[in-house]
Amino acid sequence: MHAPVTLQMLDDDDQLLYLYCRDCGHEKEIPPLSLGLSPDYPVPLVSRRLVCGQCRSRKIWSTGQLHEQPLFEMRMRGQEKRHRDNPK
Ligand SMILES: [Zn+2]
Repeated sequence: MHAPVTLQMLDDDDQLLYLYCRDCGHEKEIPPLSLGLSPDYPVPLVSRRLVCGQCRSRKIWSTGQLHEQPLFEMRMRGQEKRHRDNPK
């Protein structure tokens, strides 16, 4: 058994905090310490402190950054690809 990952551990690892709303599918990644919670706050419990910014649901899932690349960078690449695939 090991201690849960904390916000500080994500930050030390240069990882973002990934948040996902199970009701509407809204997802985002933010710097772990930007919520103003204690650095030793366990990442899985962060969700209990949050409401979805889109649908106000409390069914939030919080975890460390999912992919090596931050989500917004992957999205930017995805948009570039779509533009190339569908030239207008
Ligand atoms: Zn939502």
